[in-house]
Amino acid sequence: KPAPAAQRTLFERIIAREIPSQVVYEDENYIAIKDIAPKAPIHLLVIPKRVTARVDDITDPLEMGRLWLKATEIAREHAADYRLVVNCGAGGGQMVFHTHIHILAGWKDGPDSD
Ligand code: 5GP
Repeated sequence: KPAPAAQRTLFERIIAREIPSQVVYEDENYIAIKDIAPKAPIHLLVIPKRVTARVDDITDPLEMGRLWLKATEIAREHAADYRLVVNCGAGGGQMVFHTHIHILAGWKDGPDSD
């Protein structure tokens, strides 16, 4: 049975559909959603369903490689060119402690141009 909501991450609750979100991709191991406060014309979050707090908690190169390839696969479905960002730790700007990769894209003339 699932842990009480308070013990689960925001993204686990989104995966469980307890919190609504705009899902753009989902399979057995990943979900990708639109960021609620987009910082670019296209702003997606690629989230592994296996919970780790921070990207550097992933120690298996195959798991890390699969996450990276999933992020680039989803990014390329939405934009020819894009920026991938990972914030790691509060001091690195991370707010949600469930590993995720930001996809930022869609500027008319390169990053931060709109
Ligand atoms: P972090 O700073 O942890 O790397 O990024 C967390 C991201 O999650 C932020 O860009 C923030 O806008 C986004 N976010 C926070 N709460 C929600 C939510 O409830 N739904 C969605 N779709 N995104 C969220």
